[in-house]
Amino acid sequence: MTVTDKLLRVYRVDRKIEGLKSRLRGAERFLGQQNDQIATLEKRATVIDSQLRQLRAAQAESEGEAAQHEEHIAQLRERMNSANTNKEYKALLAEVNTFKEKKAELEAASLEMLEKIEKLEAEKAEIASQSDERAKVKTIAEGERAARADEIRDQLEALETERAELVKDVPATALSTYSELVERLDEDAMASIEIADRRRHEFHCGACMMLVPVEAMSSLLSHGSITQCPSCGCILFLEEQDREKMMSKK
Ligand SMILES: [Zn+2]
Repeated sequence: MTVTDKLLRVYRVDRKIEGLKSRLRGAERFLGQQNDQIATLEKRATVIDSQLRQLRAAQAESEGEAAQHEEHIAQLRERMNSANTNKEYKALLAEVNTFKEKKAELEAASLEMLEKIEKLEAEKAEIASQSDERAKVKTIAEGERAARADEIRDQLEALETERAELVKDVPATALSTYSELVERLDEDAMASIEIADRRRHEFHCGACMMLVPVEAMSSLLSHGSITQCPSCGCILFLEEQDREKMMSKK
C-alpha cells in the first residue's frame, strides 16, 4: 500500500468523524439560537420595565398636578362668588381660565402617557409569552443535543480507535503535511484527480478544479508518493476505478 493510500484511509475516517460531529454541531447551534433569542427577549423586557417605571411616575405626577389645579380653580370660583367689583371678578375669571388650560394640558399629557403605558404592557405580555415559548423550545433543543451526543458517542469512539491504528502506518512527514492541510483546507485537504480527457492528459484537481500536470498523475500511478495540487496544495489521490482506467490504457 502506498503512502497516499495509507493517508487516504485516515482521511476517509476523518470525514466520517467530521460528519458525526457536524450532527452534534447542528444541535448545538440550534440550542445556541434559542439562548440568543431568550437573551434578546430578556433585554427588551428590561428596557420596557424601566420605561414603564418612568412613565408611571411621570403620569402620576401629571395627575397630581392636575388635581391641585382643580382644587385651586374651585377656590377661585368661591372667591368669584364673593367678588365685590367687576374688575375683581374678571381678574379671578382670567386666572380660572389660565388654570383650566394648564389642567387640560396636564390631562392630555397624562392620557398620552396612559396610552403608552398600555402599549408597553401589551408588548411586555407578548414578550413573556414568547419567552415561555422559547423556553419550551430550549428544553427540546437541550434534549436533542444530549441525544445526538449519546448517539454518536460509540461510533465516534470506534472511529477514533480506527484512526489511531491507521495513523501508525503513515510516515510522520506525510502525516504532518496532512494535518497542516486539514487546518487550512478542512475537507479539501485531500482530493481525487478527475480525468477530463485521458488522451490529451487533461486532469483536474477535484478540490480547486485547476489543471494537474501529467507528472502528478504519473507519480501517483507509479509509486503513490505524496502529491500535492500545484494550485490549492491539497494532497491528490486517484479513485480506484480511475487508476484502473489509467493503467489499462498504458
Ligand atoms: Zn487543487
